[in-house]
Amino acid sequence: MNSYQIAVMEGDGIGPEIVNVTFNVLRAAQERCGNFRLNFRHLPAGLSAYKKYGTTLPEETIAGLTHSDAAILGPLTTHIYDTADPAMVNPSGRLRKHFDLYANFRPARNYDGVRTRYQNVDLVVVRENTEGMYADRNLYSNSGEFMTDPDTALSIRLVTRKASERIAEMAFASAASRKKHVTIVHKKNVLRQGCGLFHESCLRVAERFPDIVVDDFHVDAFALHLTQKPEAFDVIVTTNMFGDILSDQAAGLIGGLGLAPGLNLGETLMIAQATHGSAPDIAGKGAANPVSEIMSAQMMLDWLGRRRKDDTLLEAASSINRAVEKILAQGRKTADLGGSLTTEEFGTQIINMLNDGQCK
Ligand code: NAD
Repeated sequence: MNSYQIAVMEGDGIGPEIVNVTFNVLRAAQERCGNFRLNFRHLPAGLSAYKKYGTTLPEETIAGLTHSDAAILGPLTTHIYDTADPAMVNPSGRLRKHFDLYANFRPARNYDGVRTRYQNVDLVVVRENTEGMYADRNLYSNSGEFMTDPDTALSIRLVTRKASERIAEMAFASAASRKKHVTIVHKKNVLRQGCGLFHESCLRVAERFPDIVVDDFHVDAFALHLTQKPEAFDVIVTTNMFGDILSDQAAGLIGGLGLAPGLNLGETLMIAQATHGSAPDIAGKGAANPVSEIMSAQMMLDWLGRRRKDDTLLEAASSINRAVEKILAQGRKTADLGGSLTTEEFGTQIINMLNDGQCK
């Protein structure tokens, strides 16, 4: 029987609520689907870690992740982290950089039972995750944002050929098993060098995938097309900040952030992490939709299964997917989707369905 080391980090805000439900769903999937073992290890990250260990990202967590095959991570309330305090790092950005989790997959698709203005949306934003405009990732040391005087702020954007080509590789490989269409999103009419290099790198990779249809848009025009004809898109490959924004927009097309999963992928580690933030407005109320985190973990099992050629993991991933689809189709939903289930109640519905043998 194959066994896997899975780290669990709760994060802040709604993080503990949705991560706990997801942890229980994974345990149920393991129980029912059998032939693999998930060895869970809880690791500290976020504000609770800061209280207990004096840092939002203890060394123990980095060490634990080094020995993990995959992890689930809750969102973090980073806007209140004090950037002047070196112990208050953004665990999300730091982990993506440290473990070189260069690809962030953020799918958005319609679910039966969830009413939205749009139908037939089935796309994935493939976002470069280690460079771009994000100040915690774009310099070797210190921040890529600084002030030359109290009234002047500068932000550096990093784009390299290596990172652009490898995210393009991920996007094209993914499109090959989907609708065979990649859209490159950039702003090369203004950011001629950075976005120019990104676009050129993607086109170079495209040459190795002659069966894939390729098009490209400036990000502003793309935001328009995404709201006018989202069904026309399949895989969207883009730089860090554009991907972050467009994936929230894509979530808005299909019912909201509660349905928006994500996976951060590198060569040695993957971290399942929903697209959204820590939702302080609903934290602690049992109102969060856990589908985003459950489906992030589902993607994690699927990738792990494909990488390790473990069909039992793939089957567990499919069973979680089927359970989520069925529960939503039956109109059982959390408040963000117009339903009345709490976070935990929704999780129990999924677990019951898995226990009823839906994975076989
Ligand atoms: P947010 O994504 O937390 O919330 C936006 C809106 O979506 C809110 O109305 C929220 O209630 C709702 N929402 C989000 N997730 C939901 C869920 N699972 N179920 C139901 N509703 C959900 O964005 P924000 O308010 O801009 O940011 C809040 C905090 O999260 C900030 O501190 C921000 O820095 C941080 N943040 C963290 C991450 C991360 O850890 N990956 C990502 C984005 C933002």
